[in-house]
Amino acid sequence: MICPKCGVEYRPGFTQCSDCLVALVDESKLAKPRSSPQPVELVTVFKCGDPGRIALAKSLLQSEGVQFVVLNEAIAPFGMNLIICPAEFQVDREDAEDAKALLKDLEPHREQSGDVEADGEGNS
Ligand SMILES: [Zn+2]
Repeated sequence: MICPKCGVEYRPGFTQCSDCLVALVDESKLAKPRSSPQPVELVTVFKCGDPGRIALAKSLLQSEGVQFVVLNEAIAPFGMNLIICPAEFQVDREDAEDAKALLKDLEPHREQSGDVEADGEGNS
């Protein structure tokens, strides 16, 4: 047991520092490791180069309280097709499933139907 104020060590059984009149504390408790924040593992859940969808994705995640980071965000002015890297949304692995579900609708839809027949009436 030690005094938290003056640091004097007391034998077990003492509960108060006779000098400082404060309760003694257990050293082992003082030395307890702070529960360090869990290492956050970020996973990419969404990639998008479209400023509109990026903004939507942000508001969706924010509305659900999902912490996220956006990488490569270089929003080009609307009307310019100069986005080189698509923005990458990363969230804590624990939130990944939720985030993916939220952003599912934002994924560009691949239209499977209506395959353009590449017959091409060649002019050659
Ligand atoms: Zn003391």
